[in-house]
Amino acid sequence: MISENLREFKASLPAGVTLVAVSKTKPPELIMQAYSAGQRIFGENRVQELLKKQALLPGDIAWHQIGHLQTNKVKQIAPFIDMIQSVDSLHLMKEIEKRAEQCQRKIPCLLQVHIAKEESKSGFSRHDILSIFQSGEAQKMQHITLRGLMGIATLTDDKAQLRQEFSELAALFKKIRNSYVPAFDTLSMGMSGDYKLAIEKGSNMIRIGSAVFGERR
Ligand SMILES: *Cc1c(COP(=O)(O)O)cnc(C)c1O
Repeated sequence: MISENLREFKASLPAGVTLVAVSKTKPPELIMQAYSAGQRIFGENRVQELLKKQALLPGDIAWHQIGHLQTNKVKQIAPFIDMIQSVDSLHLMKEIEKRAEQCQRKIPCLLQVHIAKEESKSGFSRHDILSIFQSGEAQKMQHITLRGLMGIATLTDDKAQLRQEFSELAALFKKIRNSYVPAFDTLSMGMSGDYKLAIEKGSNMIRIGSAVFGERR
């Protein structure tokens, strides 16, 4: 039963860690079970799927976009999205800025940083993310609230490797907060397989799919 899993899982988390329930590929009925157990933040990675679910499910759900977002799809989610965690280029940031302005909203965003060894994962390089702050381009967006960073670690059982990747992201988060964005308050790192290590390294937002909803097929 999802609701029991979820209650147990939440009870096991340290105070101050926000749970994003990753509901991609899961049907609305399952999301409603989690909702009934009090869960309000859900993460999706595909815009089409997100739009369908958003139209169907209760209006007080906070939807987070967690997967790579194509610029031509920003317009569709801009009116309602609660947070975009996967901002991975300046180009995308500018599009979000434009669409948020049209909706007269400020959209909370996390910048995704590439911390894994795998090339396939998207995100800013450490160098590029620092340079958009050094140049002032990131801070000048008026309709984006920059809340922090998101990262996906390498898919591995090597705990030393995971600790290193999470530590590096946490250090980058602190550096940007200290030098450029004092309002940075969200460090999103950790998934079902590695969230304990992520929390140990300072994560305060974890994105959990299979550990709550069961394996995806
Ligand atoms: C699917 C996904 C998750 C959740 O993965 P689990 O291993 O099922 O917990 C977290 N973050 C992102 C970006 C994802 O795409």
